[in-house]
Amino acid sequence: MGAQHVIEGVQIVPMGMSNAFLLEGDDGLTLIDAGYPGKAAAVFRTIRGLGGSPDQLKHLIFTHGHPDHIGSAAAIVRETGARTYMHPLDIPMAESGGPFRPMRGAPGLLRQMMCKLFFHPEERTEPVAIDQPLTPGEILPIAGGFEVIHTPGHCAGQVALLWRPGRMLFVGDVCMNVMGLGDPVGFENLNDGRASQRKLASLSFEAAGFGHGAPIVRGASTRFRNKWGANEVRKKSAA
Ligand SMILES: [Zn+2]
Ligand SMILES: [Zn+2]
Repeated sequence: MGAQHVIEGVQIVPMGMSNAFLLEGDDGLTLIDAGYPGKAAAVFRTIRGLGGSPDQLKHLIFTHGHPDHIGSAAAIVRETGARTYMHPLDIPMAESGGPFRPMRGAPGLLRQMMCKLFFHPEERTEPVAIDQPLTPGEILPIAGGFEVIHTPGHCAGQVALLWRPGRMLFVGDVCMNVMGLGDPVGFENLNDGRASQRKLASLSFEAAGFGHGAPIVRGASTRFRNKWGANEVRKKSAA
């Protein structure tokens, strides 16, 4: 499957079971996440499809350091020289290429099975050096500005990235949009994961991009609020 336009300036790069996103800015191209191993060609194909060349990729920002988000990073950096960014808590996993911190399956039989099937802490990926640690709360001056929001739970060093020009939130694996908006396959810490989902539900954004599942193009923060907003939580606990 080829790349698809999501909103102005954003392409989704389907990489099998996970997604990466390519953004066009005045300062070159930016990639968010780097898929499973062996998927670098999908990124280069997307760049060429825009009429560009791989050396125009300047920045590679990771939502977190799991194998399905860093797998092709080393190959992409070799070809492009892109600068890499990640939250400090996940940098050791990326720079060693595993092993990865264990997760427990999220509530529900389906996710418990998916977690066992798709996540293997002992997996190894090609190590990738991280050039710049991300600081929660900072505005990264890339592609018009990304707000860095720390969202632990699924993974301690996970961040969501709010791209200001397009009001698009890149959520990594805080949640996924596979058969509807819901939990990721697993959590390192369920309480932290819920707090991160509520944190994102309190923000205002138009579009959302997920590590897994289809992007939401319009009215995304309303969907998050309906699922994880403060009122919803109160209603559920009263029921
Ligand atoms: Zn993950
Ligand atoms: Zn993932």
